[in-house]
Order: sequence, then C-alpha cells, then structure tokens
Amino acid sequence: MIPIADYHMHTPLCGHAVGEPAEYVQHGIKAGLKEIGFSDHAPLVSHRDPKITMDFDQLPTYLKMIEHVQKQFAKQITVKISLEADFIPGYENKTQQIIDGYPYDYIIGSVHFIKTWGFDDPAERTSWKSKDVNQVYHDYYELLRQSAQSGKFDIIGHCDLVKKFGHRATENMFDEVKKTAKVFKETGVAIEINTAGLRKPIQEMYPSLDCLKIYCEAGIPLTFGSDAHAPQDVAKDFDKAFKLAQTAGFKEYITFKQRKVERVIKF
Ligand code: ZN
Ligand code: FE
Ligand code: FE
Repeated sequence: MIPIADYHMHTPLCGHAVGEPAEYVQHGIKAGLKEIGFSDHAPLVSHRDPKITMDFDQLPTYLKMIEHVQKQFAKQITVKISLEADFIPGYENKTQQIIDGYPYDYIIGSVHFIKTWGFDDPAERTSWKSKDVNQVYHDYYELLRQSAQSGKFDIIGHCDLVKKFGHRATENMFDEVKKTAKVFKETGVAIEINTAGLRKPIQEMYPSLDCLKIYCEAGIPLTFGSDAHAPQDVAKDFDKAFKLAQTAGFKEYITFKQRKVERVIKF
C-alpha cells in the first residue's frame, strides 16, 4: 500500500530540479498515485537566488506549465497546484501577496532559513561548524511555531529539516516538539511525511518516528510528500512512509482543494 497523493514536488524553475512537469506526472501515474501536487519553491521574499527559487517574473510560467499538465493528464490523475513558500519573519506581507495571487490548492510553509542562514543549503553547510547545534534546534523550532502562527500555510513542510546534514542536538528536544505540536493544533495546520530525508546525509524521513508520534497524539492532520527534484523521485519510498505513519499511530491522511480539506482518507 502507498498513499494515493504526493503533495510535494518541484520543477526546474527553482534552479536545482530536473525534468519536465509531464515526466513527474507520468512517473506518478506509473507509481500508482491518484493525485499529485506541484509545490515548487515560491519566489524568495528576502533576496534573489536563482539556485534556490524561481523569480517573481517566472510565477506566471510556473502556473501555466502546471495548468497545462493538469489538463493534459486530467483523465489519468488529479494534478493540484501549490507552492512551497519560505517563512521569513519580517516579509509576511510579501509572502501573503504571493499566496493571494492565485487560487492555489494548498500552500506548504517551510523554514529553510534561520535569520539569513540557509541552514539546509549545501552551499552554506560549512557555517554549521561555528554554530551551537542545540541553539540552532531551539531557533528552528521557534520559527516552525511562528510559521504556523502566521496563518499563511496549510501544511508545514519537513518539520525537522534541521537534522538534514546529520547534526543532532545533545539536549532533549521533545519539549520543543510538544510545544510545536500544540501550536500546530491551535493554528490548524497539517504536517507532511517527507521522504526526501532518506536521500540526504541523515538518511531518515522528516519528521522522525518519535516526532510523528507526538504530532499524531496532538491530532495534527497528515499529508505525504516525496519532495521530488527529479521525475524518478515522485512517490519515492511511499511504501515506507505509509508504514511509518501507521507505526506512529496515524489512522488517516488528507487532501486539499482550493485551500480547504477535500478528502479524509482512512488507512
Ligand atoms: Zn528544493
Ligand atoms: Fe523544502
Ligand atoms: Fe521542497
């Protein structure tokens, strides 16, 4: 069994993904998906970086590209249109403008930056050497909570991404996760099981089983995402993700349409 919907994938417009949207869709159909959602990196609100996200003037191209495959494959698979938007404090209005610019099916909110440091960017990995790892974790969880509290996002992306390169906090972070789960519940956001972590140095899904149990206990809704940056990664490791969700105690997951929960799918 695999989840029927993969809600997290990219396009070459972000500058670090390969393959045409049609190839992602075709791979999703082959993998047995009923639904996929494109969630390419929204234009960065704080600065420009063509290796990280599309630029503002590429947004119309993105939407046209995805609308095209939506029509092209309408008989075989449902294609949803989304963005993965960065949460960067101080730029809320600009982020809101992007989100309001189109009737997206859902918005994934992701924390990739602590202040101006792209902590998960391979190009900025060396900066970890000068950091207090525990403090980085505390800062990361604080930003996750703020991202949910911003009210801008439907799904919080890869909610322990801070572990990506293998840095582990020496302090116990369960209180941080519990605090975060409480905020997620209050603000009504969903989380995703994101399989991309398996393909990164940490070799573990985001978030970990221990975190997932806490989010499940708190009653946070669930989605699944491969975070594919290449067509062959669509639905990658979805069988494992499904099992992980069940082990964590989840009984269902959800799909979105025009920023509302569309379906609750029981395992
Ligand atoms: Zn990316
Ligand atoms: Fe991301
Ligand atoms: Fe992503």
